[in-house]
Amino acid sequence: MIPREVIDEINSRLDIKDIVGSYLSLKKTGKNYTALCPFHPEDTPSFFVFPATNTFHCFGCGAHGDPITFIQKYEHLTFIEAVKKAAVMAGIDVSKYLKKRELPLELQIFEDYHKRYHEILLNLPDNHVAWKYLNKRGINRDNAIKFELGFSNGSIKSLILDKMDISRDIGASLGIIRKDGSEVFSNRIIIPIKDDYGRIVAFAGRSINNEKPKYLNSPENKYFQKSNLLFLFDKSKNIIKREKYSILVEGYFDAIQMHINGFENTVAVLGSSFTQLHARKLIKYTDKIITMFDMDEAGRNATLRSLDYLISYGFQVAIAQYTEKDPDELIQKHGENGILNTLEQSKKFYDFIPEYFKDKYNLEDEFGVEQYLEKMAEWYIKFQRSKHVAVTDAFIKRIAIILLKPENTIKKAIENILKYKKFNKKVIPYISVEAEEKSEKNYNELDKQLIWLWIKHKKYRDMLLTHLKAEDFEGLGKEFFSFAKNGEDLSYILENGSEELIDLIKISWNFDYDIEPDKVFSSLIETVERLRKEREVKALRQKLKNTTDDREKKEIMKRIFDLLATLKKRGGGF
Ligand SMILES: [Zn+2]
Repeated sequence: MIPREVIDEINSRLDIKDIVGSYLSLKKTGKNYTALCPFHPEDTPSFFVFPATNTFHCFGCGAHGDPITFIQKYEHLTFIEAVKKAAVMAGIDVSKYLKKRELPLELQIFEDYHKRYHEILLNLPDNHVAWKYLNKRGINRDNAIKFELGFSNGSIKSLILDKMDISRDIGASLGIIRKDGSEVFSNRIIIPIKDDYGRIVAFAGRSINNEKPKYLNSPENKYFQKSNLLFLFDKSKNIIKREKYSILVEGYFDAIQMHINGFENTVAVLGSSFTQLHARKLIKYTDKIITMFDMDEAGRNATLRSLDYLISYGFQVAIAQYTEKDPDELIQKHGENGILNTLEQSKKFYDFIPEYFKDKYNLEDEFGVEQYLEKMAEWYIKFQRSKHVAVTDAFIKRIAIILLKPENTIKKAIENILKYKKFNKKVIPYISVEAEEKSEKNYNELDKQLIWLWIKHKKYRDMLLTHLKAEDFEGLGKEFFSFAKNGEDLSYILENGSEELIDLIKISWNFDYDIEPDKVFSSLIETVERLRKEREVKALRQKLKNTTDDREKKEIMKRIFDLLATLKKRGGGF
């Protein structure tokens, strides 16, 4: 806990005009300043800065506060993160108030080794091979400090473990030392790999001579799974939220270079395979992604694989294309502007896919055209099954331009293919065994229909709200409906819902009914109405038991018969 007086002191040392002015351009009006409000869209300024009270206030949306509040809101930080940032600006040390959370043993070991590796690098003379290598890649001393790079000269061995009285086996299982006590990353530049909370969970080691492999990674451990980790995500997540998009690259140095050049919303996938877990992580922060993988065959395959997941999660994806080998080289050659131009010219996914595959088939030949269209049909159905129904027209248009045929013809051809060919029903080819096992027991069909309609077919949302009540559901359906009723969006629900609910949302994402959404909707409503009646019948029967008055008894029985009669007419389900 940081004491209130310290927070007040930080605020009083910061000038609201300077703080806001470092983010927005301010205009002086009398004693005060105005700007376009960063917290709500507007054309004429209703956002004011009052130097006299050291506060800001927006007359448009009511945003209001002191310097720390502004930093917190503008940078999408938690209060404590904002205080820490403001404290640095104010020159006040708050570290003594922050409880140092104790790290799990494994992570403490990484932390301690990393500290030494970092010191070793900083103490190397400028003409050392390690520095020469880093400088060649455009990384100077400041950047090495910022990204906490290190170097192993093989001198630490098991000393850190011995001092902590920890068995060497643990160090070996983490991939830091070998059984004989020598260092695994000896003579390599050390890149710390951190989890979402900024804790070091693994190392990557880059060789500085031509030693193979070029990159060495720690083996996976309890805290480090490549399928769930994005490099530099801990640094970039808040910036991604602010910038409203993220850039996806392949390599450590690509990501570091992008950050150095001001693209701090960049993250890297490790080992180039983008997974469903990555998509789930990112969707909480943005639904716009630009992929910037290497321009070789492996990079293109990685792009296509990531598109599969990104599209089914509803991301708007653009694909950056350039002539250099990777983003790192692009920056070396053309600097920040090279990146900017490339990002600006990146292709929307529905343009990229037809373009990419046109070179894979012989379009001079009728048979080749047919195969090409079959491929396009596969993607067409992926769009249809995701939130991207709206882009299918643009997709068809692009294909029409490539094949020099009318759009109608293309559309008909694709729909024909879909009629006769059975494509895999699922949007995402991979569903974890865990999720599948759960799908057998842990949810009921009604809840799934509700969630499926809600997340995949937005146009039913209003109707669902009008026709249904939270009481119509039990368990997960009730939980979901309560969120939905309060206007919470999917990312909020994913962040705050129960584990079981998140699993069911995942299952619903991956699922598609064989029938039209309209039918799912009417079936859901029918089932709910039936259940309401069944509940009413049950309640009436209970009432009947407790009634002695004959006339009342008759009335209740008539009501029950009427209800049963309407119930029998309908089947429910489909
Ligand atoms: Zn405002």
